[in-house]
Amino acid sequence: MEEFSVTIKPLTPIWTGDASGKSSTLRETGIIGSLRWWYEVLIRGLGDYACDPTNEISSNKRCKLEHDKFNKALKSGKTMSEALNEQICSACQLFGCTGWSRKFKLEIETLEKSYAPFVIEEIPNARFPYFLGYYDTSEKAKEYVNNGGLMGKYKLRFIIEDANKVVLLKNLFTLASSWGIGAGVQKGFGVVDVEEKLELSNTTFPQQAESEYIAPYTVPLPRLDQFFFYKIPINPNFINQILKLIGSSSYKSIKDLKDNEPLGEEVFSSYPYLPTSPWVRNKIRSLFRDKFKNNQVLRHLLMGFISNKNIKPIHKDCWEHSIEKDKKDGEKYYCEVCKKGNITKDQIIEKTGSKIFVSHIYNKNAYKNNQEPKWEMRIWGWLPEIPKKINVSRKEIKQLLQVKFKDEDFWKQTFDFIENPVLIESIQEKWDLDPTLLINNRGVFYE
Ligand SMILES: [Zn+2]
Ligand SMILES: [Zn+2]
Repeated sequence: MEEFSVTIKPLTPIWTGDASGKSSTLRETGIIGSLRWWYEVLIRGLGDYACDPTNEISSNKRCKLEHDKFNKALKSGKTMSEALNEQICSACQLFGCTGWSRKFKLEIETLEKSYAPFVIEEIPNARFPYFLGYYDTSEKAKEYVNNGGLMGKYKLRFIIEDANKVVLLKNLFTLASSWGIGAGVQKGFGVVDVEEKLELSNTTFPQQAESEYIAPYTVPLPRLDQFFFYKIPINPNFINQILKLIGSSSYKSIKDLKDNEPLGEEVFSSYPYLPTSPWVRNKIRSLFRDKFKNNQVLRHLLMGFISNKNIKPIHKDCWEHSIEKDKKDGEKYYCEVCKKGNITKDQIIEKTGSKIFVSHIYNKNAYKNNQEPKWEMRIWGWLPEIPKKINVSRKEIKQLLQVKFKDEDFWKQTFDFIENPVLIESIQEKWDLDPTLLINNRGVFYE
């Protein structure tokens, strides 16, 4: 057994939700989920296969270890890793799957408990207000204080069976903590300060043996070589103006929103972050809307959507919001564009998460003694190849984002300011990086 510990302090609230939708304690599963996600992303970026454990539709695409087959392989003289490679992907070998347990434990100790306030943000031109946290309709003051996510201080202790996996886990934790852990990272949550100085270090990634079990991807899955990363510094002279803006557009409840009684700027003056993610997301959405006229499917694929009575599921053939229940067979679907019936669930998209992640603005020196505040935000994400029928190329989207993130007008319009609050010349930008370089360079590009 090997172990290592890290101490984290949220710079923006961490969200690790429970079954009731609240986030009252930091949950191991939330952290482990983030680490696994990054491992999958790395494995795929290196050209290997990692299954998608969240795939509810085709559970046969998830790995499963059959013990008879495993034991037989061992008896025939295969090594442990050869026997595992025959049946389960590298991610499952470390994080576990049906028939195989996770190869490390994580223990969390709460050193300081505190919460971020829940807020509803109303943004001009946005169709709906944004809910940052869990909305308790009982509107009890205590609940209100507790439901915006976790702040405070936590100790994470990793206990690892195989000494060879320590460096790998440290790297995964470094990646996850550098870009966001827990849920809701796409809308601002999960940026943390790590007390210990962990660095990415060289590690060899397990090579997946080619074997028959590898299923072809039915939907593209995130892979690091298609990612982009931005660190965007904010001019400190604009922090007060942003604080005022947030204070005048944030509400404690729907009732306050209707009564036009915003929280005021005091609420966030004592936190290390300003909940700006919805503003930036809203602007990125409008960017897609303006540039790729009426291409709602594209926008939804990139920014995420959940189908409802106004938004039909997407047919993964014509790439339109065109799916209805097949009247002849309640288990199947009908497409009103191509007029096909008998469509199965794996041929439609009912919902998808955002592929673009936008942090709130945070003071990265918030927990460093005697250091001037340094405010910044992160925008990063995964830009997959776009299906041909959508008629927009990945390259076009990439160019659009590259130009706009360095465009003064983009940032003025985001916050409706007369002057640009972003230090454009100091923006750090990476596109389509080679994952092997990332690991071998000890992650230097991050700072
Ligand atoms: Zn797997
Ligand atoms: Zn169709």
